[in-house]
Amino acid sequence: MPATTQPTSDTTSFDVEAFRAQFPALQQEVYEDTPLVYLDNAATSQKPDAVIERAERYYRRENSNVHRGVHRLSQDATEAYESARKSIARFINAPAPEQVIYTKGTTEGLNLVANTFGQKRVGAGDEILLTEMEHHSNIVPWQMLAEQVGAEIRVLPVTDRGVLQMDRLAEYLTEDTALVAVTHVSNTLGTINPVKDLIDAAHAVDVPVVVDGAQSAPHLPVDVQALDADFFVFSGHKMFGPTGIGILYGKREHLEAMPPYQGGGDMIDRVSFDETTYDAPPHKFEAGTPHIEGAIGLGAAAEFIMDLEWSAVQAHEDDVLAYATEQVRAIDGIRLIGTAPEKTSVLSFVFEDIHPYDAGTFLDRLGIAVRTGHHCTQPLLKRYGLPGTIRASFAAYNTRADANRLAEGLHRTREMLG
Ligand code: PLP
Repeated sequence: MPATTQPTSDTTSFDVEAFRAQFPALQQEVYEDTPLVYLDNAATSQKPDAVIERAERYYRRENSNVHRGVHRLSQDATEAYESARKSIARFINAPAPEQVIYTKGTTEGLNLVANTFGQKRVGAGDEILLTEMEHHSNIVPWQMLAEQVGAEIRVLPVTDRGVLQMDRLAEYLTEDTALVAVTHVSNTLGTINPVKDLIDAAHAVDVPVVVDGAQSAPHLPVDVQALDADFFVFSGHKMFGPTGIGILYGKREHLEAMPPYQGGGDMIDRVSFDETTYDAPPHKFEAGTPHIEGAIGLGAAAEFIMDLEWSAVQAHEDDVLAYATEQVRAIDGIRLIGTAPEKTSVLSFVFEDIHPYDAGTFLDRLGIAVRTGHHCTQPLLKRYGLPGTIRASFAAYNTRADANRLAEGLHRTREMLG
């Protein structure tokens, strides 16, 4: 059945039109009056008025450095910066705001853990367990660490459908495993991984687990205490927040025992030329002037998400993903990549006879923004024997109408380029 004859109205109670209206970038037209369909949310999401206005207010009214000044503006900026930390702690149910460390993003959070905790924890002959579906930022820092200390990288494989082979975990979680690093949700396949099961299995043999939450924080309720994650990292810009800001959550005992990542101002207790002592977490890990408006904007994004009725949003997101999946699956010559039973927000596929890059460029001229390529998961794409995929990734503001525009665009792509 052609995509256009399918119903366009969403079937859940979430008022998606009122929600969409809060995102100015979604209201624009591209290429001669073509309304934008934004389906590149796994790369970065659009920002709502609440976040844009909060960051703007900082620059208009509060701009000042934090933790340093006795004057009014510095106190206002510090108050906003630290209150954002409390919002983010609530967002992930961290036991205390001191366990929430501002970073540049997921990538920096993972590098921080590898270079501090990892350096102390992993030694010669040890193994670091990753999975086949990791983003490069959850591979390369561990490879660099393994090279430095003489450790080995092990990789838990995925099935053809894109599910972690948990039944083979015993082969990979061995007495030599020193650390596990795993993505909560795959940015290429959309698979939701059973991270709680992995964490429980790893903890049963005293192995700590680092969770890459870049793709889960925007779509799943995250509870770091229920997960019992040792570390959980994510990026602000994928969850309606600013770019250049992210979060590293860590268990208190780890953060206290870890050496600092960078030295400089704002992370010290006392400095002399003979010796320097460090401040407690989180400041120990936040050297230098931070991304103040980013942190404040991320706090606003966390509050914005916490104000939503999450179960209704999730039902809406699931509905749009399932609907889009059926529309795209029905198109001749298309093969879906990643059909795990537990999925969120990502629809990856290939045309048998059209290069993903050509399809992406053609879709762009129709006003449809998708991502093409390896999505920073080259080992995963190699496993599927592909140079890349076309990836449509959804956020809460996307609709069945967006899915219909995508399907129509793909029909036209096939007609024109196939
Ligand atoms: N991990 C996953 C699963 C991702 O999808 C991404 C970004 O696409 C990252 C890590 C890296 O995030 P950032 O570039 O914000 O540091």
